[in-house]
Amino acid sequence: MTDQYAVIGNPISHSLSPLIHRAFARQTGQDMDYDRLLAPVDAFASIARSFFAAEGRGLNVTVPFKLDAAALADQLTDRARAAGAVNTLVLGSDGRLLGDNTDGAGLVNDLTRQLRWPLEGQRILLLGAGGAARGVLQPLLAQLPEAIHIANRTAARAVQLAQRFPQGGRVTGGGLDDLPGPFNLVINASSASLSGEMPALPAAVISSDTRAYDMVYGAEPTVFMRWAADCGAETADGLGMLVAQAAESFFLWRGLHPQLAPVLSELRAGLKRNQTDEQN
Ligand code: NDP
Repeated sequence: MTDQYAVIGNPISHSLSPLIHRAFARQTGQDMDYDRLLAPVDAFASIARSFFAAEGRGLNVTVPFKLDAAALADQLTDRARAAGAVNTLVLGSDGRLLGDNTDGAGLVNDLTRQLRWPLEGQRILLLGAGGAARGVLQPLLAQLPEAIHIANRTAARAVQLAQRFPQGGRVTGGGLDDLPGPFNLVINASSASLSGEMPALPAAVISSDTRAYDMVYGAEPTVFMRWAADCGAETADGLGMLVAQAAESFFLWRGLHPQLAPVLSELRAGLKRNQTDEQN
């Protein structure tokens, strides 16, 4: 019987995960199906349990269910525990559900292996203090940056988040103004770009050797990427992170590492095609 996987969220129709995992399955010759699963906001646990009771093998979990997935899992990986959120559920042979969080590994993979941007010894500015920022902090710290400063629109949330990582004062938090710049790397983990908004940042956070990464992606550079490029930074969007975090999930489920570059090119071309169709 073909193994069943899915991404569960609300909304879910926009998710690119089925395209990515079907491409990984074709590439590696795996007999598996991967669908979208829409769950009512108050029914995550029952829908996920029914999926696994019907022989489902694994789920990706997206907004707004990453905390519910952490509560549902029988066991958490260290990185899921540090993030306090789960984006991948794996049904073990003993019937227990393992919860993992692959977002941070996906980001680190995209930054260091695909883009070849260094992290060790770097001064990093992380914008945002929501689930995405929380999920990537421990994997970023494991790359031994000099310091990570978290800046958020609501300063208190950034301060609180920094306090969860008392690594010798290397992680600090605060608001968007009065930032101790410039930084080697600025990562936008806020959702501002989704609504075409730009966090109110001083240009002084960017210098001529700054790189700027937006976790949001699209057919065109985001407003944050355009701003950073105007200030002199090299920029990238989060499509590579999306593909790399999916590859980490695929590895947990199938024990295989798919190639990322062909899938990334396919998605990039698809985003461009959709944009052209919308314009016509
Ligand atoms: P949350 O809703 O948990 O957090 C949103 C964060 O963005 C908060 O810190 C919020 O600040 C901040 N924010 C929202 N609007 C603005 C604005 N106009 N100006 C400044 N700050 C703003 O979202 P997530 O953390 O889960 O996700 C953040 C982004 O990361 C999303 O866009 C998501 O699509 C993307 N993402 C991409 C992934 C990928 O693979 N590429 C993986 C995971 C996430 P405040 O606290 O003040 O409200």
